[in-house]
Parts: sequence; C-alpha cells; structure tokens
Amino acid sequence: MAVLTLGCKLNQSDSEALARRLAGEGVRVVDRPVRGAQAFVINTCSVTHVADRKARHLVRLARRLSPDAEIVLTGCYAETAPADIAGVIGADAVLANAEKPQIAERLLSRLEDRGDPYAGCPTPVRPTGPSGNPLRTRAFIKIQEGCDELCAFCIVPYTRGREQSVPIADVVSQVQEREADGVLEVVLTGTQLGNYGRDLGWPREEQGPRRLLAELLQRTSLPRIRTSSLQAQDIGTHLLALWSDPRLCPHFHIPLQSGSDAVLGPMRRRYSADEYRRAVSLIRKHLPAAAITTDVIAGFPGETDADFEATLRLCEESSFADMHCFPYSRRPHTGADRMDGHLPPQTRRERLERLLTLQKRSSKAHRQGRLGDTADVLWEEQTEGRWQGLTGDYVRVYASSDSDLTNRLTAARLERLEGEGVYGVPAPP
Ligand code: SF4
Repeated sequence: MAVLTLGCKLNQSDSEALARRLAGEGVRVVDRPVRGAQAFVINTCSVTHVADRKARHLVRLARRLSPDAEIVLTGCYAETAPADIAGVIGADAVLANAEKPQIAERLLSRLEDRGDPYAGCPTPVRPTGPSGNPLRTRAFIKIQEGCDELCAFCIVPYTRGREQSVPIADVVSQVQEREADGVLEVVLTGTQLGNYGRDLGWPREEQGPRRLLAELLQRTSLPRIRTSSLQAQDIGTHLLALWSDPRLCPHFHIPLQSGSDAVLGPMRRRYSADEYRRAVSLIRKHLPAAAITTDVIAGFPGETDADFEATLRLCEESSFADMHCFPYSRRPHTGADRMDGHLPPQTRRERLERLLTLQKRSSKAHRQGRLGDTADVLWEEQTEGRWQGLTGDYVRVYASSDSDLTNRLTAARLERLEGEGVYGVPAPP
C-alpha cells in the first residue's frame, strides 16, 4: 500500500507513524504512487489553495492507478474540504487529523478481507531497521500538535485544533526506539513548538522545547537532533545555551512572514520587526555559524509598497540560509479572509518574484560561504549514481562514491556549488 504525504514535517511524522504501524503488521508500505497498490492513504495539507488542488489530484491519480484500491483521504484538506469531497474525487473515506490513529485498523481489516496484503505492491524502496520497520535516515518525531495562536492568515488552528504536547517520557522513548533502529537524526516536529508544555500546565518560563531537548541530550546518544519551526519570541539565551552540545543541529527555522510592523500587527504575529531582528542577532551571537531559514508571505491584505520594501530589507540584513516564500492565499474562516484591502493577484505575484530572487541570492551566498569547509554529512540515498545528504546546518550535499553511504554520517569537504546544494567529497571510510 502507499502512504502519500503532502505538507509539513508534522504530516511527515504522522505518515511515518502510520507506515511503521502497518509495516509492523507485515504490510509493504511505499511512499510514492504505485500502480496496483491495494490501498492508498493520502495525507494532505491545506495551507494554500494550491495544496488543496494537489490533494484532489493525488486522490484522482490513485484511483486511476488502482481502480479497486481502498483510498483514504486524511490530513488538513480532509478538515477543510466540502462534505461531499469523497464522492467528487473518488475517495472511499475522509478521516480528520484526530481520526488518523484509526486508519491502520481500518486498512488492516480491509486488506485482510482482500487476502494477500502483499499482492500488487512492489518492494519498498527503504531498507528496514532491526525492528523490521522501514528505516528513514531522518525520523520525524511529533512532540506537539495544534495551535492556539490564530494568526490571521493561517488555517492550521482550524485543521489541527488546540495545542496538545506529547509528554517528555513518550518523546524520549520514541527517540530511543528510533535510535535502536539505527536512525542517526531525529527532527522534532509540531505546529507550535514554542508553546510545548503550555497545555501540560507548565509555567510560561518553562514552556518551549528547552526541557525536552535537555532530557533528550541526557537520555539518548544519537548524533543529531534537529528542531523544526520556532517563533522569534521563543528564542532566548536559556534555550540557545543548549546548543553548546554539537548534537543539536545549528539550524533554526524562524518564520518572519513580514518585515513591517504595519503588517505583523494585523497578521496577529507575536513579535515586531525589531524583536525578530533581536532573535536573529541573539542566535548569531551564540552560534555564529548557525543557519537561519524562514517563511515569508508576499501580498498580505493591506500590505503597501513601503511595507514590502521593509520585508525585503529585513530579509537582506538577516542573511537567511534559505527562505520559503509564498503568495498570500485566502483561506476560509481565517481573520484575514474577512479583511479589506486584498491585493490583486498580479501584485502578489510581482512581490513573490522579488522575494524569490532574494531567496536564490541568499541561499547561494550561504552555500558559497561553506565552500572549502569540511562538514559532517548525513547521507540519505543514492539517486542516478549520486549520493545526497544534509549537513547539520541544512545544506544539501551531493557526492560520487563507490562506498555504500546509506544512512552514514561522514565528514565531507565542500568543494563547489551544485544545483540547490553543494558538491562534496566524503572522507575515505
Ligand atoms: S503560529 Fe500562527 S502560523 Fe503558526 S500554526 Fe499557529 S496560527 Fe498558524
């Protein structure tokens, strides 16, 4: 069967959990659309209308590839889609995010009814770990879900619900399990990591990933722990002090969205442009070599030319290692949907183009700055004879090597720019 995933790292971790559960029952699980698969789970995103379109496309593709397959639509589009979506696009079931834990049972009983669960499914692409589970080089671990922030452009609070933290003990045992499976890097994911522990009644100064990270550093020994998005207001000296441990990846993803207070206010973001600057300079002070990446929205309702110039200036001065740039996308139920001042698509496109030009320049400058360095690279897989992997500061590295580098962490000399990454020479084994 195929588990197809769109969207964020949180969705990745949900899909991974489902694939592990099914593989544990002897079901062959692949992560790409395959002809003849007996079942498909399509774990969707709804952060933009483009994401909605991709979700519908994948359901239709699955139905074409396997007319008799059991097709389950889940994830955030399952939350926002019209009630009749299943019939419209040909899904057998539409299950909300909260219903994801039921999917494995549902499919196992369906697959059993149809006899050999292996039938019609090619060999999984991934090697398996000692536990027989598909081995991912980087495992996504969900530590938190949901968000109480209600930023004006964001649909996630409506699709992921209120904040829920996974207790520290559960997270530690999941990471220990992955470590036993040979995983070398875990990525801690969630919707709002900065509020980790709030729903557990922790005092404000204790909230956030600091306690969890300290516990993981103490009770596990895998070489890499990476955090996913943190907000500017989450960055403090206390938290950054933990990064004296080289096992924490020197990479911070801090969404900016806009560089103008006149936009950040209506967006209901929890920081000003200057507070964002302070967070960036605090990281630079503690970890001069750290990579900072970000998200930026072009064309939020009411955004003036001057506001947009302020965004470009702040992005320029922050020397981001990479930027995810999006045109503002109108989402139902969100505060911005009811606002005046929506900008014409042409304006949003033009501003996005300018952001993308800056993104390319910033990313290139970050990678150029790494050339000549020797960095630890976690090699993932070989495609078309080329190995690829990631440095701790999130630079993608390509290499040619006769050795099997699958899931190996090796030093590599970073030699030249290549594609969206760099070409590196792995140290001899
Ligand atoms: S913090 Fe804002 S943008 Fe992020 S998930 Fe919550 S509401 Fe959405």
